[in-house]
Amino acid sequence: MLDERVFRRKLRCTVAQLRAVRVEENGEPLVDIRRGRTELRVNSSVDPHLQAFTGTTLFARKEVVRRVHLANKRIGELLPGAELLVWTAYRHPYHVVSQFVGALAIARRMNPELTYRQAENVVDPFRSVPDISPHATGAAVDVTLVINGKDGKLLPPKNDEDALKHRTKFHPFSLDVREFVRKRRLALRRVMLEAGFAPTMEEWWHFSYGDREWTRFYKQRVAMYGPIQFVV
Ligand SMILES: [Zn+2]
Repeated sequence: MLDERVFRRKLRCTVAQLRAVRVEENGEPLVDIRRGRTELRVNSSVDPHLQAFTGTTLFARKEVVRRVHLANKRIGELLPGAELLVWTAYRHPYHVVSQFVGALAIARRMNPELTYRQAENVVDPFRSVPDISPHATGAAVDVTLVINGKDGKLLPPKNDEDALKHRTKFHPFSLDVREFVRKRRLALRRVMLEAGFAPTMEEWWHFSYGDREWTRFYKQRVAMYGPIQFVV
């Protein structure tokens, strides 16, 4: 079940709409996401396939990192004891392709009537279509909360099948979760938006700055960041 406001606002972009957004790459570097004004918590078990490209460090565009730290500072003021925990940021395009292929196979098995183009829209943005992937640009972060040093109980999907079967549970305004969970999701959303990020209507944990989704959400002329091949 979803809050009806979500339907009224209809913010979700289709793959075709995102492809239509022009990118003027600004060349900003990727930096270690911990490099900022706050002590930022990061995922300590980075996906081994992603480690093949960037090791155990999480990277994002410089301005994205600055804004994540702003949100991290603000969340403690809004929810006492709360801190952000970043579990994914930049993903190498090859990694994005492998995740997309896995989820596409599951989506088409679950919905054999779908055409390829329809299946792309089922999978995206959970496992984004590679050419428009926000994570491959270094613009996107997946974040959750830690409260008083403990897991903030904002549970992500267990696997791709769970994500595709129970999609509405993962919407930021979902009424399928307990009240305290929804409040925490909304507090996270609020600090990320205040820091200039755009949300996605499909995933309470995903935010981006400067990519195609951000461009549409804030009605900007062009996106600043396109996919890049970055390795360490
Ligand atoms: Zn994401």
